Amino acid sequence: MQNSRRKFLEQSLLSGYLGTIGGNLLANPSSQSSSAALKKAKVIVVGGGFGGATTAKYLKIYSGGKIDVTLIDPAQNFISCPLSNLVINGQMEISDLTKSRLELERKYGINIVNDTVEQIMPEARKILLKQGGTMSYDKLVLSPGIDMMWESIPTMKDPAIQNRFVHAMKAGTQTLILKKQLESMEDGGVFAISIPLAPYRCPPSPYERASQVAHYLKKFKPKSKVLVLDANAEITSKASLFKRAWSTYYPNMIEYRNNHTLVDVDPAASALLFEVQDDVKASVLNVIPPMRAGDIAHRTKLANINQRWCEVDFLTYESKIMPNIHVLGDAIQSSTQTPKSAQVANGQAKICASAIYHLLADLPIDKNPNFSSICYSILGDKTGAHISTLHHFDKNTQSMAVIAGSNSISTTDNPKEYLSAIKWANDIWADTFI
Ligand SMILES: Cc1cc2nc3c(=O)[nH]c(=O)nc-3n(C[C@H](O)[C@H](O)[C@H](O)COP(=O)(O)OP(=O)(O)OC[C@H]3O[C@@H](n4cnc5c(N)ncnc54)[C@H](O)[C@@H]3O)c2cc1C
Repeated sequence: MQNSRRKFLEQSLLSGYLGTIGGNLLANPSSQSSSAALKKAKVIVVGGGFGGATTAKYLKIYSGGKIDVTLIDPAQNFISCPLSNLVINGQMEISDLTKSRLELERKYGINIVNDTVEQIMPEARKILLKQGGTMSYDKLVLSPGIDMMWESIPTMKDPAIQNRFVHAMKAGTQTLILKKQLESMEDGGVFAISIPLAPYRCPPSPYERASQVAHYLKKFKPKSKVLVLDANAEITSKASLFKRAWSTYYPNMIEYRNNHTLVDVDPAASALLFEVQDDVKASVLNVIPPMRAGDIAHRTKLANINQRWCEVDFLTYESKIMPNIHVLGDAIQSSTQTPKSAQVANGQAKICASAIYHLLADLPIDKNPNFSSICYSILGDKTGAHISTLHHFDKNTQSMAVIAGSNSISTTDNPKEYLSAIKWANDIWADTFI
């Protein structure tokens, strides 16, 4: 690849990572009739996280406020997973990651409903709310994130055990429980992290967690150890960067064991039970179970790929099996090159919002959508590193593929990229909620 093209791609990623490159996003309604159709159109967005809130906001922006958009989420505020590993080791507060959705209502006129969607009735184009009442839609957008496959760890079907061996892969209460467990651990104890086979939410996040837990232990409980028990054959993201950081900053403190598939836990012994290897006892068990699309997608039978992920048309994010329901974010089936991340959910949301607007206005949709994926991790004491790619729609596979030569990865973690990671988080929070 020519140097100038590589440079252009890197610049696109590192400076404008929250835009899409190219695309036909801002076409105006071409006639009075399409404008009238838009005015009556009702879109309900289920899930006010990175995917859902961004879709709701951009539906309003692209339609000039004409589409009637309702955003439903049980919680008044959103708590961000990105940077939540820094809450576990005390470098940040949960309040730093808590974002209000009120600006979406005030600035863009989105109707915010704090409730849970209990049921979707695709034939009738209606949803049922937990607190009672139904709502009708022309288009439904689902970005419910992930839920856990508790059936693969039988003892953990018990909610009391789930609250003891927390995953902390949804930021909030569980993040704070894990922080408390780390603080209460004896010096000389073992903090074990069990990682499921990919795909799971945010591939590098468990390894970032190992790094940041070790950062805390080095300072406060230096005789302790982090044990990473990974079902995968190798660290699934930024492997060489993590290995270098672990041996440089935390020598003999982080032990990594691959091919460890968890089959159950033993609460009495505080132990992890594996398919092949011996049981492992530890002071803290951070059990990250296998994941699938959020419960509402699963219950609606939208998760048609291995009963885990939802299959969509990558030009519109419409479900392949249920018309007028669009699914995005962590809940969908995507290529192995596409991580389940906030950055990717943000890009998908803009493509989905643009497609829905164009469909409702009876205008042609963009046939060449693209987005960027950039993922920072914090490895040392305020040092960060990134991995990034640009993705475009591949007509042959009808899915999003990495643009050849667009890959970029830090050579080593460094203080500048810690600051870039914080800036990235602030930018995506603003792009989603303000
Ligand atoms: C520790 C950690 C660190 C991470 N770091 C990064 C990072 O640095 N960069 C990055 O890009 N990504 C990161 N991620 C991944 C990122 O958080 C997710 O990929 C992203 O949140 C996915 O967006 P989503 O919209 O699919 O789901 P979410 O953002 O989880 O939003 C789902 C929303 O749906 C709501 N919901 C679910 N069911 C219903 C229902 N029935 N009715 C109403 N509402 C419902 C939930 O309340 C929730 O608010 C990290 C994840 C973790 C766990």
